Amino acid sequence: MTEKIERSEEEWKQILSRDEFLVLRKKGTEPAFTGKYYDLREKGRYLCAACGQELFSSDDKFDSGTGWPSFTKPISEDRVARQEDNSYLMKRTEVLCSRCGSHLGHVFDDGPKPTAERFCINSISLNFKKED
Ligand code: FE
Repeated sequence: MTEKIERSEEEWKQILSRDEFLVLRKKGTEPAFTGKYYDLREKGRYLCAACGQELFSSDDKFDSGTGWPSFTKPISEDRVARQEDNSYLMKRTEVLCSRCGSHLGHVFDDGPKPTAERFCINSISLNFKKED
């Protein structure tokens, strides 16, 4: 079991950059094809940019053509939390880091096999750690 991290909005503001804060803590979305990881093919792991929990593996990354890093699954299901998101007149499922509650992106059911899920994640919510 990982211990949960709770911080006040003020604390997050001090730790994160302005853009990180807007996505991770205010559920914003970076513009497509602008993030640092949508086209990255290196082997490694993707960590939560807010708390460092390992979330996704390059083994599960695929090119969705959306302009956001996309994965078929998290490293394990307990790394993420899923939450209904009915904002902007859409029915979506939000994906959050299970450890610190930061917003990562959304999960859709139009992904490739074997999960048929597509985790559509903001680059700015992640930090890539290259496999050594
Ligand atoms: Fe986190």
